[in-house]
Amino acid sequence: MQDKIKINCCSHKSVIELYSGEKLCKLHFSEYFENKVFRTIRQFGLIGKEENLGVALSGGKDSLTVLHILSKLSKENPNIKISAIAIDEGIHNYRDKTLEKAKEFCNNSGIKLNIFSYKEEFGLALDEMLKILDVKPCSICGVFRRYLLNKKAKELKLTKLATGHNLDDECQSIIMNQMKNNINASARLGPKVGLVQDDKFVQRIKPLYLCTEKEVTTYAFINGLLDNFNECPNVPQSFRAQVRDMLNNLENKFPGTKYSTINSFLQTLPLLKQQFRADAIRICARCSEPSANDVCNACAYLERLKNKAEIR
Ligand code: SF4
Ligand SMILES: [Zn+2]
Ligand SMILES: [Zn+2]
Repeated sequence: MQDKIKINCCSHKSVIELYSGEKLCKLHFSEYFENKVFRTIRQFGLIGKEENLGVALSGGKDSLTVLHILSKLSKENPNIKISAIAIDEGIHNYRDKTLEKAKEFCNNSGIKLNIFSYKEEFGLALDEMLKILDVKPCSICGVFRRYLLNKKAKELKLTKLATGHNLDDECQSIIMNQMKNNINASARLGPKVGLVQDDKFVQRIKPLYLCTEKEVTTYAFINGLLDNFNECPNVPQSFRAQVRDMLNNLENKFPGTKYSTINSFLQTLPLLKQQFRADAIRICARCSEPSANDVCNACAYLERLKNKAEIR
C-alpha cells in the first residue's frame, strides 16, 4: 500500500515530499491525493453505484477533506447523494468553533448538514457529564458519538457513513488495541468498519484510509479546508495522544513505520474478521439499539450518570 505511483511533477514549487521521495506541487499533489482516495474507494469497494451517503462531519480537516472529495464524486455521479451529520458533544470553546466551520462549508457547498447534540439527545453536554463521572473523556465521548451517529444515520436512511479517519488514526487504533489486549476491537477496524453487515448498523467507511496525516493536512491547507488546528481540550488526557506521539517519533527515526503497520494489519484483518464474526449482535434491553451486551454502553453510562447525579 506504499506510495509507488510515480507522478512527473512540473517545475512549480513543491508543497510536499511523499514517502517515496517525490516532491509535488500544489496542483499535482491535489491530483495525486484525490486519485489515491478514489483508488481506495475502488480497492475496498467502499461506495456503490447508488448511495445515500452521509459524512460524519466534525469541522476538522479530515472530515472536511472527505466531504470535499465525496461531494466531487457526487457531482459526477447523480445516483450518489451526499449529506453531512455533525455531533455537538458540548465541549466548551472547541466544538462550537469547529461546528461553525462545518456550517460554513456546507452552506457554501449546498450540502445538507444535520446536527445532533448530546444535550438534546441525552440531557447532558459532555462537559457536564465529566463533572459527574470520573472517567476518561474520550471513552465516554466515543461511546455516545458512535451511538448517536449510527442511530441518526438509520433515521436519515443513509446507506453508508463516511468518516475522516486517516492512516495515522488507524495505526494508532491498531497499536492501542494491541496494548490493551483488545483484539476484537481491531477486528472491527479496516476501511469498512465492523464484522458483519446488518440492518442495525449503517456501514461506516474510511475513504482516507491510505492517506497519511501529513497528506491530509497538506490537501486541506491547499484547498482552504484547514481548521486552524483546533484541538479538543481533552486530547492530552487520552491514551491515543501518547500512542500518536510514539508513532510519530518512530516514523521520524524509521520512515515507513506507519505504512508497514497498516500493510501487515491488512494482511491479518480477514482472519481477525473471520475469527470474531460469530460474536452475536444483541439488542439493548433499554433502547433497542445494537449492543454487545444486554445493555449497550451508552445506556450503561446514562444509568451511571443518573445514579451519580441523584446521589449528589
Ligand atoms: S478528543 Fe476525546 S473528548 Fe474530544 S471530541 Fe474526541 S473523543 Fe471526544
Ligand atoms: Zn507539479
Ligand atoms: Zn441502549
